[in-house]
Amino acid sequence: MGMDRRSFTGGIIGAAGIGAVAGLAGVVPANAAARKKKAPKAAPAATSTQLDVIILGAGISGLHAAHLLEEQGQKVRILEARDRVGGRIMTLLDQPGYPEMGFNSMAAAYGRGIDAANRAGVQLQEVGARWRMGPPPLLYIGNQPLTREQWARFPGNPFPEKYRNLMPGEVVGALVAQNNRLADWTDWNAPASAPLDISLHARLRELGLSDAAIHLCNDIAPYYGTNAYGLSALMMEYNDGFVKTMAAAGPESLAVKGGNLLLPMALAKQIKGDILLGTEVRGIVQNGSGVTVHCADGTTHTARKVICSLPFSALRHVAIEPGLSGLQAEAVAQLGYQSISMVFVTAETPFWEQDGLSPAMWTDGLLGNVMIQRFGDDPAQITGLLAQARGNLAQYWDAMAPETVKAMVVSRIEALRPAAKGKIRAHSFFSWAQERFNGGDVSFLAPGQVRLVNDMAKPAGAIHFCGEHTATNARGLEGAMESAERAALEVLDA
Ligand SMILES: Cc1cc2nc3c(=O)[nH]c(=O)nc-3n(C[C@H](O)[C@H](O)[C@H](O)COP(=O)(O)OP(=O)(O)OC[C@H]3O[C@@H](n4cnc5c(N)ncnc54)[C@H](O)[C@@H]3O)c2cc1C
Repeated sequence: MGMDRRSFTGGIIGAAGIGAVAGLAGVVPANAAARKKKAPKAAPAATSTQLDVIILGAGISGLHAAHLLEEQGQKVRILEARDRVGGRIMTLLDQPGYPEMGFNSMAAAYGRGIDAANRAGVQLQEVGARWRMGPPPLLYIGNQPLTREQWARFPGNPFPEKYRNLMPGEVVGALVAQNNRLADWTDWNAPASAPLDISLHARLRELGLSDAAIHLCNDIAPYYGTNAYGLSALMMEYNDGFVKTMAAAGPESLAVKGGNLLLPMALAKQIKGDILLGTEVRGIVQNGSGVTVHCADGTTHTARKVICSLPFSALRHVAIEPGLSGLQAEAVAQLGYQSISMVFVTAETPFWEQDGLSPAMWTDGLLGNVMIQRFGDDPAQITGLLAQARGNLAQYWDAMAPETVKAMVVSRIEALRPAAKGKIRAHSFFSWAQERFNGGDVSFLAPGQVRLVNDMAKPAGAIHFCGEHTATNARGLEGAMESAERAALEVLDA
């Protein structure tokens, strides 16, 4: 399914800041018109009393919530900090083969995602089979190339006998899948499951892995976080339950032809209300009659309700009055977001045909993982390579200048694959941790944090929450859309 492909600095304003911004109500900066998808039909002060719901963030969850509410006759406005919609759906549309920096693909069982694509009129194409084409990926341990068979016999393979034929990047998924302690994975956030909320490290030790084996299979390229001590095994079992449910519908993975970013762009066009781009939310103030949202450009927007889709990594830089409390406040302050950085590379000539090896590589070195991109019209065509660093390696990449990272990736590929020498070019560097309005890829829970889940998405007065981090059933894009449905229903029920 789609999930298997994937693996800030906001200004905090205090009460004085909110007051200062509030004083600017109605003042629209000179460049604001250029940022608006549609201009408000009247001056903000007059319009504001007519708004039912302000939606914060124009990612897939914010756009879906807006669509659902408009279907029910609600008047909505979306405030989006970036100059584009889509959030973590991010395609480099100006680069060959439309490389995906964010959301990659949906499983065939993504009912909401497929429905949205049909409604938006974008074309989905099957890409799952493309990833299984060609020779299998190579493993590089200490610069030594190893096939699966060679790895199984390799003296430095630290895995127990029955797992020796698994590549390091496959071990966590396989062990969690074979030993999932949840009889019903949808019970993952039930209070009775709390004793299972131990670290992935502790769980992998229980399953017979040594510290060295855990380091190799998890910490070098962690699905979530930086190491197995900091990740909830229970969350991984929830993830596994969802993955299995999706896989039961078939091995297909669907991506938008021409780039996934076309999906939120098309959905945005169908929203009747304003979508104000370049409008960073800095404060949310509730009073008896509704909610006023204060933005960095000095504008304010008032409505009966707010739906906030901001990742908590972004929301923790927004002042909220009255403040959030209890487990919800703890979650906003503490929720983890995955560091992941990427370099998109193209090859002038297919060097892999010359040396006869797969261009896909999993390394234990500074190159990270190299994944194949096949997003063109011809399923067999390799449209590019994506070098990806996760966890600590991503943070190491992020500490360097983008040009330095790109040069390092090229030189490391060339060192491992002499046939690539002079034939590859790094086009772009992209870091989710450095993206101010995300601060990381997807959210994850540390051991003991599952207890936050049932409280963190509860409405706080007239503020409702959605976004992938608030989903408790589906995950990824489908989870983000599920959460939008819940938040829209809450608003309509209130
Ligand atoms: C590399 C990568 C690969 C992925 N692969 C898959 C996959 O294969 N399958 C899958 O199902 N899912 C995948 N996902 C996850 C999926 O993309 C996300 O779950 C989903 O897009 C999240 O949508 P969202 O609306 O919750 O959040 P976002 O898309 O993050 O939307 C939040 C919005 O809020 C805006 N915002 C933030 N701060 C402010 C502010 N102060 N004021 C105003 N606006 C603000 C942001 O700019 C953003 O547009 C992947 C994600 C990444 C990063």
